[in-house]
Amino acid sequence: MEQKKIFMTGDRPTGKLHIGHYVGAIKRRVELQNSGLYDECYVMIADTQALTDYYDNPDKIRESVVEVALDYLSCGVDPDKSVIFVQSRIPELFELTCYFLDLVTLSRLERNPTVKSEMRQKGMEESIPVGFLCYPVSQAADITAFDADTVPAGEDQAPMVEQCQEIVHKFNSLYGETLAMPHLLLPEKDSCKRLPGLDGKAKMSKSLNNCIYLSDDERTVEKKVMTMFTDPTHLTIEDKGHTENNPVFIYLEAFAKDEHFARFYPQYPNLEALERKYREGGLGDVEVKKFLAKVINDVLDPIRKRRHELENDIPAVYKILEEGSLKAREKAMQTLRRVRRALKINYFEDKKLIEKQVKRFRKQHQDEENLRAYLAKQKKN
Ligand code: ATP
Ligand code: MG
Repeated sequence: MEQKKIFMTGDRPTGKLHIGHYVGAIKRRVELQNSGLYDECYVMIADTQALTDYYDNPDKIRESVVEVALDYLSCGVDPDKSVIFVQSRIPELFELTCYFLDLVTLSRLERNPTVKSEMRQKGMEESIPVGFLCYPVSQAADITAFDADTVPAGEDQAPMVEQCQEIVHKFNSLYGETLAMPHLLLPEKDSCKRLPGLDGKAKMSKSLNNCIYLSDDERTVEKKVMTMFTDPTHLTIEDKGHTENNPVFIYLEAFAKDEHFARFYPQYPNLEALERKYREGGLGDVEVKKFLAKVINDVLDPIRKRRHELENDIPAVYKILEEGSLKAREKAMQTLRRVRRALKINYFEDKKLIEKQVKRFRKQHQDEENLRAYLAKQKKN
């Protein structure tokens, strides 16, 4: 199988996208899409996966699909370069999931650390929907259906890509080289791999309500930044502060460039100098937060402007999703033809199979005929 350079990634439509998505996933995809290094790029809105834990709130998913699409387009995901599509419109993904389910054990699924922490977060430890427990398998189908060799995503996706690699390995060893082996592509900076929440929790997440959304206006960003958790031992300006594990400094590492210092905070040439001062003492949290709000607003400003324009033509956004879904389906259909062939369930395509079966039954009938004739002859003698 010739391996093209293909990336595949996506997001759950469980709300609008936040700045964790931007640094952890979207920024990278836009760079890859524009790099010219990839033959095909797929970006999926994972509505079926979102229903595994939002099955009682389909309206939320329905509303969020267009929000996520608007976030993509305003961040620069370009439908001429990337296929943007909706998961539920590609039935081949669910067929592939079914085949993969035979290759994974229940105990393996229960060991997935991301799923475990999500179960805790959602109070699902006592009773977990089967669909939710199996979503890493369905995600393996999403990745392999598009022959992706690269999955640009945040750190929480490492167990999913590992599970996918195991499935690919098992499938290819059992049925012959059929599926492409994917690799996770993490953001370079540690701060971007898993951006913490405003509340200092380990991950900014739509489900935890601790986010700055890409569509938040300037004032909302300022207000949210002011409520941020910082160093709890830094009580007065004179106190020595800690920059490690301090969300304000983690966000600055993720977003602030030297040019932001020159424009908004010329007292300091760069982040190292600011960190040094904070650690020495004599620098207040409010001052640093004001700077952080300016930096985030500077990054979000062009995104918000583009979003506003796109919101004036919502039918065009749905058209992009519909056309993308058709293109994505074409690709998944090709992979599934290969998969069915490998699994020997391509009964109606394989003309040789019919010929072989015709011959087999003919021979069987002939053998029976010969046996009958032989027995009749024996009886006579
Ligand atoms: P949900 O709470 O519904 O799971 P989420 O905020 O975790 O939502 P997803 O749609 O699950 O978002 O994740 C989409 C992509 O964004 C994945 O590649 C994931 O790794 C990345 N991502 C999500 N949150 C963060 C974060 N805080 N930091 C870095 N990357 C993130
Ligand atoms: Mg998530």
